[in-house]
Amino acid sequence: MPIRVLPDVLIDQIAAGEVIERPASVVKELVENSLDAGARRIEIEIEGGGVGLVRVRDDGAGLPAQDLPLALARHATSKIASLDELECVATLGFRGEALPSIAAVSRFRMASRTADAAHGIEITVEAGAPRPPRPCAQSPGTVVEVRDLFFNVPARRKFVRSVATETGHIARLTERLALSRAEVSFRLRSGERVLLDARAEPDAAPASGADVGAARVRSILGEEFLARALRIEHTAGPVTLGGWIGLPTASRAQPDEQYWFVNGRSVRDRLLMNAVRLGYRDVLYHGRYPAYVLYLSIDPRWVDVNAHPTKLEVRFRDARQIHDFAMRAVEQALAATRPSADVAPPAASPADARAAEHPGAGSRSPWALASAVRDQPPLFFDRRGSGSLELEGVPGPVAGVWRGALAAGDSDGAAARVFDAPPDDRPLGTALAQVHGIYIVAQSREGLILIDMHAAHERVLYEQLKSQYEAASVPSQQLLEPILVRLKPHELDAVLEHRAEWERAGFEVSSIGPEQLAVRRVPALIGGREVGTVLRAMLADLELDAAAHHLDGAADRFLGTLACRTAIHAHRRLTLPEMDALLRQMEATERANQCNHGRPTWARLTLAELDQLFLRGR
Ligand code: ADP
Ligand code: MG
Repeated sequence: MPIRVLPDVLIDQIAAGEVIERPASVVKELVENSLDAGARRIEIEIEGGGVGLVRVRDDGAGLPAQDLPLALARHATSKIASLDELECVATLGFRGEALPSIAAVSRFRMASRTADAAHGIEITVEAGAPRPPRPCAQSPGTVVEVRDLFFNVPARRKFVRSVATETGHIARLTERLALSRAEVSFRLRSGERVLLDARAEPDAAPASGADVGAARVRSILGEEFLARALRIEHTAGPVTLGGWIGLPTASRAQPDEQYWFVNGRSVRDRLLMNAVRLGYRDVLYHGRYPAYVLYLSIDPRWVDVNAHPTKLEVRFRDARQIHDFAMRAVEQALAATRPSADVAPPAASPADARAAEHPGAGSRSPWALASAVRDQPPLFFDRRGSGSLELEGVPGPVAGVWRGALAAGDSDGAAARVFDAPPDDRPLGTALAQVHGIYIVAQSREGLILIDMHAAHERVLYEQLKSQYEAASVPSQQLLEPILVRLKPHELDAVLEHRAEWERAGFEVSSIGPEQLAVRRVPALIGGREVGTVLRAMLADLELDAAAHHLDGAADRFLGTLACRTAIHAHRRLTLPEMDALLRQMEATERANQCNHGRPTWARLTLAELDQLFLRGR
C-alpha cells in the first residue's frame, strides 16, 4: 500500500479510541467542558447505559455563534494558547480532542448560547461530517447530545457491557465529579430515574482545589461515611491536603470508596493511592481497603496533568515528597485512633444494628461494615492456655476492692456483686470481669465498655514491639537449652534469609542440619512457651507476604504477626489488675482502637443505649 496522509475523520476516530473508551468517558468529557465553562448547574441524562443517549446540559458561559464550528475542529481549544500556559493549566480540558472524537463515533448535536446572544446556535454531526450551523431555541449555556455511540465502530461497540454495568460506571463517575466541586449542582437521570441529585450549597465557594466541605461529601457518600472517618487538614509549603479518611474499622472488602482529587481533578494516581495504602499499613491487613476522600491542592506548575490522554494519572515534579507528605498525613491522623471518651467507639453499637434492619440502610450501614470486618478469617486462638499471664509493664494493684469482691464471688458464686463504684472518667473505665474467656467488661462514666482482650492486647504489644525494634532493644531471653524446630528446607531458607530481622526482633536462630532450626534466644514476651507454634505461624505469614509481593513494611508485618501470635489468647484468665492494666495501656497506645488487622478492639454501650434497650425513660 502506498504511504498516504489519513483523512481527518479517521484521525478523529483513532483519537476517540484513546479518550472515549465507553459511554462514561463521554459523560466525563462533556461534564468537564461544562465545568470549564463555569457552569453552576449540570444536568446529565442517559438512556441505554449511555449508548442510546448522553445529554449534558449546563448553564455555563456558552459559545459565540462563530466559535461553535471551531469547537468541533481537531486540536481546537479555547483553554491554552502556548506551552507556557500548558505548564500552569487550571482547566480540566486543554487538548481540544474530546468533541471531535465523540462526534466521529456517534450522532452528535451541540447547541449553545452566550448570555448576550439573542438566540442559540446548533450544529449537528453524523459520523464526523458536520452540517452547517443554524439558529435554535436555547437558554444561555450549552447542551450536547450524543446518540448511538460507536454505531459506526463495531469493534468498539463489542467492548460495551450491559446497560446496568455502563449505567453503574456513569453513576460512579458522576459521584466523583460531584465530589470535585461543591459549588456546582449535579443531577443524573437514567430514563425516568434520578440516580444522583447533589445541590450546591447556596454559599459554597468556587473550587480552590481544596476540599469540598462536609455537606457535599455527606450527600454523595452518606452520613455513615463521615461518622466513621477522620478529618485531615495539612499544609506544607505550596501543598495542601484536605479531606476525610475512613477509620480502619470501617474498611471495605473492595477499593470502591477511594477518591483522590488533585486541584479539583479526579485522578486515580498510583503514587497517591500507594501513599494512602502505606499510611494504613499498620492498621489494616491484607485484603481490606480503606475508604477515603482526599483533596490535594498544589501550584499547577508542580504537577503535569498531561501525562495521560484521559488525565487520570498525573506526574508530580517532586513525586517522592508528595508521596511522603500524603503518607505521613494519613499515618498521623490514624495514630490518634485510641480510646477517648468524646470519640465514638470503633465497634458498632446496638443502635447501629437496629438501623441496619431498616431496608435501605444498604451496604453502607456501619453495622454491615463491622460485620464485614468480622468475616475475616479467625485469628489463631490457643484454647489450651490457662492460668494467669504477665502483661508487660503492669503497674501495681488497681482497685483491691474489686479483687476482694471477685474472689468472694469466685468461691461459690453465692454473693451477687454490685458495681456502683464512683464513675470512672478514664475512657475505658474500670474492669469488672472477663466473660466467655474472650471479652473484658468494664464500667465507665458513660456506661458499659466491652473489650476484645486479644485484639486489644495485640495492638498494645505491636506498638511496644515496633518502638523496641526501631531502637534495636527488643527484650529477649537466652534459653538454657536451644529449642529445636523441624522445618521444611524452604522454610529454613526463608528464616535464614531474614535472619537480621529475626535477630532484631529478639530471636537467635541457626540451622543445624537441612531441616532443623535451633532457637537459642527468644523475645521475652514469648517466654519460652510454644516457640515452635509461634515460629511456624510467623513463617506462614512471611510466605503470604512474599506471595503478595508486599515488600514495603515487611518488618512491621513481621512484628505484627509476632504480636498477634503472642497476645493473650482466649480462655486465659486475667486478674482484675491485669485487665485494668490492659485498659490503661490501650488508652496510652496509638492506634489502639483497632487491632493490626483492622478489627475494633472495644465497644461501648452508653447508659442511654442501655435505657433504650429496656424502654426505660429517665
Ligand atoms: P478541550 O476541552 O480540551 O478544550 P474539547 O474538544 O472538549 O477540547 O472542547 C473544545 C472547545 O469547545 C473548548 O475549548 C471550549 O472552548 C468549547 N466548549 C466545549 N464544551 C463547551 C461547553 N459546555 N460550554 C462552553 N464551551 C464549550
Ligand atoms: Mg474538553
